[in-house]
Amino acid sequence: MHDVVIVGAGPVGLFLACELGLAGCSVLVLEREPEPGSPWRAEPLGMRGLSAASVEAFYRRGMLHPLLTASGVHDDPGADADTDEPSPPRTAGHFAGITLDPAKVDVAALPFRLPSPAPEGVVTHLEAVEAVLAERASKLGVDIRRGVTVSAIAQDEESVVAQAGEHEYAARWLVGCDGGRSTVRGLAGFAFVGTEPQFTGYTLHATIADPEKLRPGFTLTPSGMYIRMPAEGHIGMMDFDGGAFDRSQPPTRDHLQTVLRRVSGTDVTLSAIHLASTFTDRAMQTTTYRAGRVLLAGDAAHIHSPLAGRGSTPASATP
Ligand SMILES: Cc1cc2nc3c(=O)[nH]c(=O)nc-3n(C[C@H](O)[C@H](O)[C@H](O)COP(=O)(O)OP(=O)(O)OC[C@H]3O[C@@H](n4cnc5c(N)ncnc54)[C@H](O)[C@@H]3O)c2cc1C
Repeated sequence: MHDVVIVGAGPVGLFLACELGLAGCSVLVLEREPEPGSPWRAEPLGMRGLSAASVEAFYRRGMLHPLLTASGVHDDPGADADTDEPSPPRTAGHFAGITLDPAKVDVAALPFRLPSPAPEGVVTHLEAVEAVLAERASKLGVDIRRGVTVSAIAQDEESVVAQAGEHEYAARWLVGCDGGRSTVRGLAGFAFVGTEPQFTGYTLHATIADPEKLRPGFTLTPSGMYIRMPAEGHIGMMDFDGGAFDRSQPPTRDHLQTVLRRVSGTDVTLSAIHLASTFTDRAMQTTTYRAGRVLLAGDAAHIHSPLAGRGSTPASATP
C-alpha cells in the first residue's frame, strides 16, 4: 500500500508528487492519458504564463533552469541559484486582457514573497512544465502510471482504494488532481459552488482562408478579443456577447466562424477546423478540500477564467 495515490499527472499532481517524494512518502500517480504531451499541452495551444509565486516554487526546488531550457528560454539570469543579482522583470502578465506594466509591479511589496533572483514571470507550455516535474518525481521515487483512468473510489478509516478498470490501488490517502472536470470530486461528494458562466473563450487550430484579415497578436474589440498566434492557423478568442457555450458538444466550424467574425468585426473565413476547445468564466470552488482520506488540489478544487488569473499559480505555489 502506498502512502498517497495522486489522480492526475498535470502540473498540480506532479508538483505535489515531487513534494511528497521529497518528504519521503511512497507516491503513486495515476494518469488517464497513455502518453505525456498532446497538441493541447505543447506550444502554441498549451502556452502558459507562470506568475511570480509559481516561478519562485520552481526556483526553490532547483527546477527553474530545466524549465527555462525545456521552454526554449535561454536568457535566464534568475535561474542560477548561486547568484544574488536581481533579474530584470520580463513579463508581469495581464488582468482581464489588460497587460500589466512590469515597471509598475513592485514585487518587493508582496508580503509572502521571499527575496530571490528568480524572474517575476515565465512564459512556458504545459508539456515543458510536466516533463520537468515528471523527471524530478521519478528521481524522487514516485511511480507514475499512464493510461489509467480512475472511475471509482472507496474509503474507510484506515485507507482509500482507487479503481481503474479491473485494477485497484490502495493508499493511506488519495489526492484528486484530475482537473476542472474532476471525477474524484464527484465520487467523493465534494460540493462545488460559485458563479455560473456569462461568456465563452475558444482556442483553435484552423485553416484560415484569408488570415490577413486578422491582426497578428492580441486585439481588443467592442465584443471581446482575439489573439492571432504566430503559429499558422492558431487562434484564441473571447466572446463576451455570446453567453455560455453548451460544452456538452464540440463547437462546429460554422459556430466558430460566426463567433470569430463577430469578435473580430471582419468577414474572415475558416475553411477547416483541426482542433477546437472552449472554456468559460465559471468561477467555482469546493467548500472543503478534504473528505475523509480524499483531498483535492488544483483545478479539481477551484476553477476560474484564465482571463482573470493564472490557474496553475494557486496550485504550484501552494503545494
Ligand atoms: C485557455 C487556457 C489558458 C490558460 N492559461 C493559463 C496561464 O497562462 N497561466 C496559468 O497559470 N494557468 C493558465 N490556465 C490554467 C491552467 O492550465 C490550469 O490551472 C492548470 O493546468 C491546472 O492544473 P491541474 O494539474 O490542476 O489540472 P490539469 O492540467 O487539468 O491536469 C489534470 C490531469 O488529470 C488527468 N485526469 C483527469 N481525469 C482523470 C481520471 N479520472 N483518472 C486519471 N487521470 C485523470 C488529465 O488527463 C490531466 O493530465 C489556462 C487554462 C486555459 C483553459
